[in-house]
Amino acid sequence: DCSMGNSKYEYVKNFEADDRLPPSNWIVVRIHGCDFHSFSSIHEFEKPNDSNAASLMNSCASSLLEKFPEIVFAYGVSDEYSFVLSEESEFCERQASEIVSSFVSYFGSAYVMKWKEFLPDKDLKEVPYFKGRAVCCPKAKIVRDYLACRQFDCHVNNQYNTCFWMLIKSGKTETEAQLCLKDTQEKEKNEMLFQQFGINYDKLPEMFKKGSCVFRNKVEEIVKLDEGGNPVKMSYEIVTVDHVDIIGPRFWDEHPYILH
Ligand code: ATP
Ligand code: ATP
Repeated sequence: DCSMGNSKYEYVKNFEADDRLPPSNWIVVRIHGCDFHSFSSIHEFEKPNDSNAASLMNSCASSLLEKFPEIVFAYGVSDEYSFVLSEESEFCERQASEIVSSFVSYFGSAYVMKWKEFLPDKDLKEVPYFKGRAVCCPKAKIVRDYLACRQFDCHVNNQYNTCFWMLIKSGKTETEAQLCLKDTQEKEKNEMLFQQFGINYDKLPEMFKKGSCVFRNKVEEIVKLDEGGNPVKMSYEIVTVDHVDIIGPRFWDEHPYILH
């Protein structure tokens, strides 16, 4: 140990940067897959949305909530996931690089471990890897707005990608498809899907339109009846994946304990 007896080497410790995030801030760690454009094509993900690959991402995120109780909420779409840590969390003494690297490595390892469970017919041919960053939010309202922003992006991207891949599947080149979609409004894209391809955008799976939310749901169960015949309840939390709107107030009103 180089700290013993104040060795001449000990000064090197001063070169370690302290990157503690400020206290009383919510911490959002956003991770995303690197080179997933190529990763998804090598592994022949269904386009625009491979539901097995998306379920694999969701399962990895759930395992993070199981492993790290201080994650209160997660939101994911495509190859990205955001994890919210409670404002008073002392996880990794709030050192940004340690928090981010723990989440990134846990997620990547879970992705590899669970691959066969979700994509049993496909060999893992490349090493999936992720990177991440931490964002500080001084108010719960900012966390909500951050999440709303991700979900809004999910909608915009999904609508674009659904049109884009339908055009490709109908024989257009990438350049032609991009040109068809250039400067189109939301309504025009919906009409294109409906008129050219018979797709009602509203009827597409919620997972792709809204992305995935992972959180602890409070569940109450009657375990027995007491002597007076009254139910004795036990409440516990289960990590749940849902594809719900988090832009409006409803979800947050129904789950006030998440971003208290
Ligand atoms: P970078 O390394 O800079 O992040 P990238 O190659 O990962 O770039 P992104 O812009 O992050 O590219 O895009 C992610 C890619 O992964 C997109 O091409 C997207 O279609 C693909 N992808 C991710 N999840 C899925 C999925 N479930 N089904 C199909 N494709 C997916
Ligand atoms: P933290 O999560 O805080 O980093 P830790 O459980 O990883 O804690 P460390 O203080 O980092 O603990 O110590 C690493 C542990 O791993 C030590 O107990 C060390 O003996 C053990 N270890 C690491 N490499 C080997 C190895 N090749 N063979 C046997 N033991 C090892």
